Amino acid sequence: MVGKLFVVGFGPGSVDHMTKRAREAIEESDVIVGYKTYVDLIKDIIRGKEVISTGMTEEVSRAQEAVKQVERGKNVAVISSGDAGLYGMAGLVYEVLIEKGWHKETGIKVEVIPGISAIHSCAALLGAPIMHDACTISLSDHLTPWHVIAKRIEAAAAADFVIALYNPKSGRRTQQIVEAQRILLTYRSPHTPVGLVKSAYRERQHVVLTNIGDMLEHDIGMLTTVIIGNSSTFVHDGLMITPRGYERKYNLSSAVQPLKPHERLRPEAEPWALTHVRSLAEEAYAKVNVERLEVAVSSGIAKKTWEPEQMVQLARIVGEQGTITYTPDHYFKVTMETNRADEVVRALVQVGLTVAPVGDVFVMKACDFCDGEKKDAIPYAEQLYKQFGGMKLPKELRVGFNGCGMACYGAVHEDIGIVYRKGAFDLFLGGKTVGRNAHPGQLVAEGIHPDDLVKTIARIIAQYKEEGYANERFHKFFERKKEVGGFVYGQTKNVEPAACGE
Ligand code: SF4
Repeated sequence: MVGKLFVVGFGPGSVDHMTKRAREAIEESDVIVGYKTYVDLIKDIIRGKEVISTGMTEEVSRAQEAVKQVERGKNVAVISSGDAGLYGMAGLVYEVLIEKGWHKETGIKVEVIPGISAIHSCAALLGAPIMHDACTISLSDHLTPWHVIAKRIEAAAAADFVIALYNPKSGRRTQQIVEAQRILLTYRSPHTPVGLVKSAYRERQHVVLTNIGDMLEHDIGMLTTVIIGNSSTFVHDGLMITPRGYERKYNLSSAVQPLKPHERLRPEAEPWALTHVRSLAEEAYAKVNVERLEVAVSSGIAKKTWEPEQMVQLARIVGEQGTITYTPDHYFKVTMETNRADEVVRALVQVGLTVAPVGDVFVMKACDFCDGEKKDAIPYAEQLYKQFGGMKLPKELRVGFNGCGMACYGAVHEDIGIVYRKGAFDLFLGGKTVGRNAHPGQLVAEGIHPDDLVKTIARIIAQYKEEGYANERFHKFFERKKEVGGFVYGQTKNVEPAACGE
C-alpha cells in the first residue's frame, strides 16, 4: 500500500484564507511535513497528526522524508505558506521524485493544492495595486546568483511591471533591498507608490504605504512583501491603486459612455493595439535602425579558393549600396549601411563563406597548407579560430598560422606566429608586419605539443585582454610586460632555417 502526497499551499496563515481543498487535504493526511514556523501557523487544525517539522534550509530533507512516508503507505501533506507552487515546495517535491525515477502514471499520486500567495494577500490589504501586468522577484540569493536577480529587477523595472519583491531582507541579507532600490530608481520616479506588508492576515500584520525614494526608511524584514507600483499606480485615501486602462475608452464619471459597445473594438478606438501600430512601427524601425556593417569575408581559414557562385552571391548580397575591398590579409572587407545586418551575415554564411568582425579583435591568417596537401595542422588552426575568432581585444591581434617551416605566408611577422613543424608547433611573439621598423616576432618556444597549443595561446590572449592598454599593439605590450603567457621578452632562441615541408 502506498499513500498519497499532497503539496499544500495554505495561504497567508489565517484559517479564513485557506482553501476548502487545502483543509480537506490536511484532514486526509496522516503526516504533516513543514517548516517549523508554518507548522505553528496551522497548529490548531493539525492536532493529533504526526508532524515532521524542520528548520530553514532543510527543504530537501523535508521533501525526501515526505516521499519516504508516502512509500510506507501514509498520506502526507507537505505544507507551504502562500502558494505551494510559487517559491513553495511543489517544484522541489517533483524534483526529488524524478530523481527516484518517478512517473506521473505509475508513481505515487501527487496533488498540488494552490493557496493565496503574498502578492495577492498583500495586494488586497493595500487596495488594488496589481490590476495590471505584475511579476514576483525573490531577492534571496541563497540559491540564485545575485547578477541574475539584478537583471530580472532591471528588466521588470524597464518594462513597467508592478513588482512584488519576496524575501527582501534578513539578518544577513541586508544589501539586496538597497541594490534593488538603486536599480528601480534608474527606471522609475522616486515618488512611485510602494506598499510594505508584513505578516499579512496574521497576528502582527503591519501595512505601510510609502514610495521608492523613501521605502528604506521603514522597517523591512523577512516577513515583509514589498509591492512596487508601475508608472500609473496612484494612492487615494491610503489605498494603492493601479489603473487597468479603462479610462482610455470609458468615461468613469458618466453613466453614458462615449463609445457604444460595438464601437469599442474598432481600430480608431484603440489605435495603440498591435495590429494598428505594427505597420507604422515596422516602417519607422526600418528607417531608424540602419547600422554600418563592416565584416571580413573569406572562403575559409585554410581555404583560399573561391567558388564562382560564392563570388556571384557576395556581389548580389552586398549590392550597389555596399563596398567590397580586397585586403592584404586575404579577405574581402564588406562595408554597407543596412537595417538587416543579421540577414546579410546569414546569407553569406549560407553560401559557405566565413564572416568575421573587423576592428580590435582576434584575426587569424592561415596559409593554404599547400592547397590542403599539408593538412595536418588545419584542425588546430580551425580550433583556434573557433575559440577566439572575433574576440574583442585592446587592439587588433593578428595571428599568423603556417603549415610548415617554410612559413611562406609570413606567420613569423604577425603579433603571434604559429608554425607547424615536425609534428609540433613553434611559437613567435611580438612581430610587426609593416612600418620601417617591421620585424619578425621573437621565437619563444619550439616543439609545443599539439594538445598544448590552444591552452598556450589562450594564456597569452587572456593576459593581453586583461592587462593590455586600449590601443596597445601586442608587440608593445610584450615589450612593456617583459613576460606574457609565461614567455620572457628578449630571451631569443636561434632560428634555424627549415626547408619546404619541414
Ligand atoms: S609551404 Fe608550408 S607554409 Fe607555405 S602554404 Fe605550404 S604548408 Fe603553408
